[in-house]
This record gives sequence, C-alpha cells and structure tokens, in this order.
Amino acid sequence: MEKAPVEIVLEICSHLDPRDLLHVARSAKIFARSLLGSSAAGVWKAARKKCEPDLPPIHPDLTEQKYALLGFGSHCQNCGTPTRSAVNWYLRKRWCLRCQSETLDSKYCHLPIPWVSIRGHPKHDLIVYQARLSGSGGRDQRRDCRDTCPVSELEALEWKAQEFSDAEWDAYVAAQKQKKKALQEHARLCTEWTKKRISDHQAELYALRCEREEAVKSRLEGIGYSIGLIDLAIDSGFTGLGLSKPLTDKGEPSVTLIAG
Ligand SMILES: [Zn+2]
Repeated sequence: MEKAPVEIVLEICSHLDPRDLLHVARSAKIFARSLLGSSAAGVWKAARKKCEPDLPPIHPDLTEQKYALLGFGSHCQNCGTPTRSAVNWYLRKRWCLRCQSETLDSKYCHLPIPWVSIRGHPKHDLIVYQARLSGSGGRDQRRDCRDTCPVSELEALEWKAQEFSDAEWDAYVAAQKQKKKALQEHARLCTEWTKKRISDHQAELYALRCEREEAVKSRLEGIGYSIGLIDLAIDSGFTGLGLSKPLTDKGEPSVTLIAG
C-alpha cells in the first residue's frame, strides 16, 4: 500500500472510520503526509460522518484531522507518546501528564477572578479558550482549582484593549463573546460524548470478561471438573481469567493451569 498512488490510498481510506484512519496515518510517514494534509480533509469528513449523530458536528476552529485526533486519538499532542489522559475539549488539547504539567507552567496562566474587568468587560467573558483545571497552576505556580487560559490569548486581549479604537473594541468584544459561547457549548457536547464513549467501551470490556468466564467454566466442566472446584478457582481469580477478550483454543495457559 505504501507504493500505491496517493489517490488510490485516499480512496481506500475514505471507507475507514476515524480511529482506523489514525492508525493508518501513524503506520508510515508517507501515509501521515498524505492524510494530514489539507487535501485529505474529505477523507476525514467521510470518516466523521460515519460517527454521526453521536459525535457532535465539527466546530469552525477545528480541521477535520484535528477533530479526529482529539476525538479518537490516544497520543499526547506534545511529545507523541501514547497516553490515557482524556482530551480537554475546552482547551482543544490532549497531553500526557508530564507535558501537561510543563505546558501549563510555560504557556498557560490563571485567568483573573471573574470580576476583574478590562475596558469595561470582565476578562473571563473575552477569553475563548479557558478551562477549569486542578493539580497544576500554570505560570503563577498556584496549585488550586482555577480557570486557566493560554498566556498568548490573555496577552492578545490586553494588547487589543490598549490599541483598539472604541468601534474596533466593541466589535472585538462582541465577536469574542460569541466565539466563547459557541466554543463552550461545543466543548460541553464533546465532553459528554467522550464520557459516553468511555462508558460504552468499559461496558463492552465487562461483557467480554463475563463471556470469557462463562467459556472457561464451560470448558472446564467439559473436561470433567466439578462446579464447586471451578467456582473456587474462579473466586480465587486465576491468571488470564480477567482478560477482556474471547477465550480461544490456543494460548490459554490459565485453563491449562487449573486443568492440570
Ligand atoms: Zn507528552
């Protein structure tokens, strides 16, 4: 597939869902180049459409690729390592714990308390990318739970408050309020979608574990073990029983172990 023309690769990829597309993009540099460029947006859009209506519609601040990376990715956006950290939809970021701490300290700061105004408007109302975070305080090193935003956005706001004419400032304020409201609503929907996705996945894994346990019981019964002994072994939790995958005929040491 690596030697196939880009058009063919994109055609094949247009049938995949976002998670599989991300796997393909990560599998080789040539695929990453093809799929992460703007010309491949249609492929990602087709993949996203497969996830509707559960997945909220895309928001104007996101490209198709970035939306897929945030929604279906599992790597830190900073260092590229796999992470179990959840995406923060309000900041549009997924970091591993180390990068989160470093990035918050270097590029983010606490928002001033809500009643601190700038040119007649609370700063809170004019910052688009803001999130309530705990565990790391950003540049000013506070460790409580506070609203955090990019330093660059706060600095841009302060610069515009100084430089803009009244008309420019009024237009800017109106646009920022609208952007913030729309982004927060989209982030709320995406956060709910992510929680549901995690919960559905956990339920799926639980069902697989139950199915596996039943299959182990049935197999052990089939080779002559008593129900009492099987229940005793299962209660003691022997190796491999808790795996979230179906039981197969090969490579099942746990069954061999108890049967032996
Ligand atoms: Zn990282």
